[in-house]
Amino acid sequence: MSDKGDGTLVVHAGLPEPVPGEPFLPGPVLAAPYHLDPVTGPTENGYGRPDNPTRRALEAAIGELEGGAVRAFATGQAAITALLLSVLKSGDTVALPADGYFTVRAFAEGTLRGLGVSTVLVPTAGPYPSFDGVRLVLLETPANPGLDVCDLAAVSAAAHAAGALVAVDNTTATPLGQRPLDLGADLVVASGTKALTGHSDVLLGYVAARDEELLTAVTTWRAQTGGIPGAFDCWLAHRSLATLDLRLARQTANAAAVTALLAGRDDVTGVRWPGLESDPSYEIARAQMRRIPGIVSFDLGSAERVARFLTASKLVFAATSFGGLHTTADRRAQWGDDTPPGFVRLSCGIEDTADLMADLTAGLDAA
Ligand SMILES: *Cc1c(COP(=O)(O)O)cnc(C)c1O
Repeated sequence: MSDKGDGTLVVHAGLPEPVPGEPFLPGPVLAAPYHLDPVTGPTENGYGRPDNPTRRALEAAIGELEGGAVRAFATGQAAITALLLSVLKSGDTVALPADGYFTVRAFAEGTLRGLGVSTVLVPTAGPYPSFDGVRLVLLETPANPGLDVCDLAAVSAAAHAAGALVAVDNTTATPLGQRPLDLGADLVVASGTKALTGHSDVLLGYVAARDEELLTAVTTWRAQTGGIPGAFDCWLAHRSLATLDLRLARQTANAAAVTALLAGRDDVTGVRWPGLESDPSYEIARAQMRRIPGIVSFDLGSAERVARFLTASKLVFAATSFGGLHTTADRRAQWGDDTPPGFVRLSCGIEDTADLMADLTAGLDAA
């Protein structure tokens, strides 16, 4: 781990050595093929799909934060499915979070099952079954959207003892919130669409690992299937990364204030935030995580009350996704998720806390 603080780390992550007359962060290199040496052939840059300089710089930056080598993908789903399909073979069993990102379960029930891969679903909060006969354990902590947390070191040790690989979806925490590779995981997968880039304008995903064989499998998969992010998106993501420490700090502070507000109201139930002392996730989160993300979940009882809340609020945008600069709220059941009709995932933005509190209070009073 770097001896620098998070703010310093993200500002400098992946930047080239200073060269007079050159920019701090080089702009996106928009090229499919590059000039080749007519005699010696390919150099570092030959063709944009297998590798390119803008993506390489972003991967170096995220790699510094995760503590492993990184391969960027077009979206989080492209990264997760690349991992699953490059590791799993017919006859294998994969353990997936029962309460994690729902598209991953849908993929397992469709494509993976069709390929002869069986799935066991495990709730993030446990209890964890024996991993005998399991090839890969995918964990998601904090889980989206229910915000349960699992003990990464303990589950990784149990999985490894049974001969299974461990991958962790680090989307919600971001690498500044936790470094799964340091806690025993073999692989990290994540959507960079959320807090990592945080401006609600880029889709991105990545896989991180230290093991050369796993990296090679994922790299080959990506080069052959082609689900890469474009150079402009990589550059936007790299530019956004520099403010990650500041953004997360304000989002966490806002979430702490919002949680206290919600927990104090008797017209709101099921308030969950791993930073709340009475939360079931609190103890593990405190021991394992370096910071708690700005996502709070709660229940307003019905779709109608959520609609009235969102209509009355001026600062809370109705939107899916999370981790952005703007405070957003998503009624998950509208997407066919298996959450109750009034369940809301609120993603705290970086607005002033006092303004957000006043707006939420007005919105909830109107609901
Ligand atoms: C959003 C999300 C994904 C998928 O990411 P995309 O970039 O939308 O493909 C995967 N896992 C988690 C936990 C997510 O929140």
